[in-house]
Amino acid sequence: MTENNVILLGPPASGKGTQARKLADHLGVPCLGTGKLLRNEIDKGSPVGLEAKGYIERGSYVPDEIILKMVSEWLSGHSDGWLMDGFPRTIPQAEALQQTAKPTRVIALDVPQDELEFRITKRRECTSCGATVAVNCSQDHTCPECGKETLISRADDALESFKARYQNYEELTVPLFDYYDSLGMLSKVDGTKSPKEVFAEILKIVEG
Ligand code: ADP
Repeated sequence: MTENNVILLGPPASGKGTQARKLADHLGVPCLGTGKLLRNEIDKGSPVGLEAKGYIERGSYVPDEIILKMVSEWLSGHSDGWLMDGFPRTIPQAEALQQTAKPTRVIALDVPQDELEFRITKRRECTSCGATVAVNCSQDHTCPECGKETLISRADDALESFKARYQNYEELTVPLFDYYDSLGMLSKVDGTKSPKEVFAEILKIVEG
């Protein structure tokens, strides 16, 4: 049986990270989140982290060379059967992936811009368990997943940075829809539904 090599595409705050965690658990495959990996490198103060920090805080994409080096290192430790959240994000990244490890299915989460802006102001990340959650009040630091007082706002979740990221997404990532559609791999999912409903849609696609 061919292993599932799945890519999740979607704008910032579309729910990719949440769905990726659930799907990787369900399928029992490793998940590569390039945004998370970059934030870890920044926290470690590594050379890659130092280089990536400015781009991320400005809301720019990190240059393809840096991303491709990181991804090829990750792929060298993982055979078929994986999930990618946040990669590829540009046509050159997709073309490079096609040369090394071919995806079998690409799922694009569809969420309109005004809903994304609403979500981004409520989004928090837990530094203890890694969950991404929504808060009702900006003073709320308790993680609903693990109960610890360790919820933080991501440095790149300011509205201005979001707008820059969204523009990059439209210019550089949306062309991947046509790219993967022409390879017969693309499926779109309505990402405005509840996380549970979105997950059920994704499973239908992946498990056919
Ligand atoms: P989001 O989907 O909300 O933008 P991510 O955690 O996936 O969040 O990514 C955070 C940031 O990391 C991006 O805005 C971008 O600067 C950088 N990044 C992550 N993956 C890539 C990639 N494949 N190519 C270029 N930049 C990337």
